This record gives sequence, structure tokens and C-alpha cells, in this order.
Amino acid sequence: MSIYDKMKKRSDDMMNQLKYDKDFNEIYEEIDCFSSVFEMDEKVRNFIEEKSSSFIIEDFTDEKKYCSNCLSPLNDLKVCPNCNQKLNPKKILYESIWNVKHIKDVLSFSFFMFDIKDSKVLLYLITKYLDYTNPYYCRKQESFLMETYEIQKDKVVNLKTGEQEYYQDYEDKAIKKEEDSSRILSKNFYNPDLTFLYKENLELLEKTNLYRYTNIATFLNNTNQYNLLTLVFYPLYCPQFEFLVKMGLYHLAESCPYKINYKKDALERDLLKFWKKENITEKEYLALKMVPTKKKEILNFISYDLTVTKYLSKIISFPRLINYFKSQKLKKEEIESYFDYIKYSEKLKLNLKDHHILYPDSFKETFNKRLCEFYLLIDEHINEKIKSLAETLSINSYEDDTYLIFPATSVESLIEESSQMSNCVRSYAKKYSENELQIYFMREKKNPTKSLVTIHVENKKIYEAYEKFNTPVSKEREKILKEWESHLIPILNS
Ligand SMILES: [Zn+2]
Repeated sequence: MSIYDKMKKRSDDMMNQLKYDKDFNEIYEEIDCFSSVFEMDEKVRNFIEEKSSSFIIEDFTDEKKYCSNCLSPLNDLKVCPNCNQKLNPKKILYESIWNVKHIKDVLSFSFFMFDIKDSKVLLYLITKYLDYTNPYYCRKQESFLMETYEIQKDKVVNLKTGEQEYYQDYEDKAIKKEEDSSRILSKNFYNPDLTFLYKENLELLEKTNLYRYTNIATFLNNTNQYNLLTLVFYPLYCPQFEFLVKMGLYHLAESCPYKINYKKDALERDLLKFWKKENITEKEYLALKMVPTKKKEILNFISYDLTVTKYLSKIISFPRLINYFKSQKLKKEEIESYFDYIKYSEKLKLNLKDHHILYPDSFKETFNKRLCEFYLLIDEHINEKIKSLAETLSINSYEDDTYLIFPATSVESLIEESSQMSNCVRSYAKKYSENELQIYFMREKKNPTKSLVTIHVENKKIYEAYEKFNTPVSKEREKILKEWESHLIPILNS
């Protein structure tokens, strides 16, 4: 920054009463704060130790449980037999990515702690690492004081870097959906399972001028979302925060969507009672704005996918749709298939006021029929194209004692695969017919009509291969697929 820029910045900042030295470097008022975790109260350090070492890791592959501190297998879930660490049986971290026996990862925990110094409110962010990559690593030592913030009425200041951010600026950016990761408030999001707040001093915090009327302690005792937005921005800046907490709407207070007038929306007492009973989330709130209801069953349904709800709310009645789903034995998640069904029906110019169209006798069968009709509408020769491509692709067919791999032969076969596997391969029919991608099925020889693995090939490589519900392919089958892939003969799109 040139001296000129610094001078200009200085005059801009005069309003903010920042101090500068003779070289125009900003001077922050010295605040007596901790410079490392070791200076902190023993209670705080114990809190960090307890939260970060006392959880249990469950291995996804064999459901066995391990001590988070030393990775020894556990029989008793209260104390580790190897390192004597006391464990919290309620805090189990499920590990789906790595196998605990071959653990190669670093877990990072985040801790927030408020502190009040000379009537100023400080907020510390501490990070603790559990490093499993190095067995000789001394875990107990690895807590770092990452950031120290001074919380003010209109802004937050990072005392380490001098960086500051006004709540007003943050809100303006958030409304415009501008992203700027260098700002303070927007970069503080952590995994809530691994983020904790030291709560012993919340009472003192509520006595400060800054937090006096915010209901912050009540809120923080009813949430596990600890970040700079829930600790600072919402309570100090959003006018609806205090109201939401007072009403017990803690989930709404966690996101505090601005520009929404809860007080006005919730004037009806019964409605508020329902909101409170369900402790509704922001997503549920938005769903309720589209489809007002006081029934939990309907709320579960309409909050599953807001885009779907918005679209369907103009066409169907949700109580009726729920009854229809029950009669067809469809799960809530299948509302997305229903949404597709309605969209295809619309494209086929069917009358969406006709109840036989909206609620057909057999949903799955009718849905598949509509899809075929739709594909034939966009390309009447689609099935001939797929058939001819499949004949060429059959050069890549595979067979051993147990398995078969062969190309999809028709639109119907893709639709059938989708229904059996609960995947979306049916939506690839058009691209497949043009040989933009290739679809193969892997099945068991003894049961060749039952779907097993859907394989999507592009550029001579397996682009994706999944078993039912898009779950990964078993090790044994994966080995066969790798081998098969290495022998694939490319059939180019001419
Ligand atoms: Zn242990």
C-alpha cells in the first residue's frame, strides 16, 4: 500500500476512530488477552481435553468401536483399557471414509470461548488436532489459539490480524449472495459434531452491555451450532433473534434468515404453538410459507424438497397426495419421482386437472409408461437407435462363472433398471441413444433379470458404477469391473 493509499485509508477510518502510528500503520488498543492456550484456566484446558479425547470412533466397515485417543479397540465404552481415557458413550463418531485399522487422517476440533476483559467482550477460537498419521505424535500438546476476536456493537475485530468486519457489510454481502472468503464472519463454519463452546461463563456474558438483552445463554444451551454467526452476528445484529429464542424457536434462531418478519408471520397463536412444538428449521419455515399447515405429517412431506413443494403446491393438494402415497406404499423420498412424473405428464400435454392423471391407479407402472411416451415424443426412433448401438457394444460383453456384463438394449430396459436400483439411469436414454455415453448392466448369471450394478461408461472408462441406491460396488465386483474396463473396446460416436 502506498503512503498515499494509507493516508486516504486513514481519512476514511477517522470516522471509525482507528489509531495510526507515524508511518500510518494501524494501531490497535492493547488489550490484555491470552496469547496461548497454556495461559488459559485449567478448567478450559480440561474442557478441551475432555471433548476432544473422550469420543468413540465406530468403524463403518465392521461396526467395531475404538478409543479416539489411542485407537485401541474397546469392549467397555466407559474407559479405554489401553490409555485409561474416560470415554463419553453418547459421543460416537461414525467413520465411513477410512477403516480405523488403517486410519490415516487428522481430525480437527474447534473450540470457542468468551472472555470479558475490562468490560470488553473477547472471543477465542482454539483448534485442537488429533493426528493419527504419526503414531508418535504427542496429542495432548496440540491445541492452538487460532484467533482472538474483540466483539463490538457494530463489528468484529480480529486482534491478531487487525482485520475487521462490520455486521452491516456482512449482511449487505449476504443478501447479494456475494462471496468473499477473506471476511471474518463468513469463514467460520465447522463441523458441528467437532465444534464446542465453553459455557461456564455465559452468565457473565449476559451481564455485559453488549449481550444483556439477547437471551444468548438460553440459545446456546439449546443449540450445537457454534460459529461466529450464531455467537455474534445473529444475537447482536438480527432484530428477530431475541424474539425467536424467547419463543423457543432455537432452530430458526440458528439461521435467523433476515428480511423475514417472524413476528408478523406468527401472529396466529395456534401457528406459533405448532412452530414451537416442532422447533421448526428455516427450511420448514419456508415450506410452511408455501403450504400452511399445523400437521407434522404434512410438514415432513413439504419440507423434504422445497423446489418440488413449490412446484407441486400449484397443482395438487398435499393432504390428498399424502393419502395417495400411503395407498401406493410410496415413501416420502419418492416425491422426487412423483415430481418427475408430473413434469413428464405436463410435457406430454396431459390434463393436470384430471385426477386419473394426478393419482393413477398404479404409480410406478404409469410413471414408466409416461417416460417411454416422453422419449418417443422427443425421438420416435430412439429405441431403434439404442438397439443398433447395443448390438455394436455387445463386443464388450463379459461372462464368467458368476457374472454377466452387457449393454442396455432399450428405453424400457433403462427404466426397469432405474426402478429396480432406485437410480436415475432412465434419464440417460436420449444421450445413450446418441452414443454420448454408454450404459452396461452387470448381473448374476443365475438371475439375469435382476439388477445388480449399473455401469456408465464414457471415453473408454467407467465413469460411474453403483449398486442399488447408488451404493458403492462390492470389492469382488469392483475387481472384475477394473479388469473389464482395461479391455474395453471404444465404440466412437461417428
Ligand atoms: Zn485409549
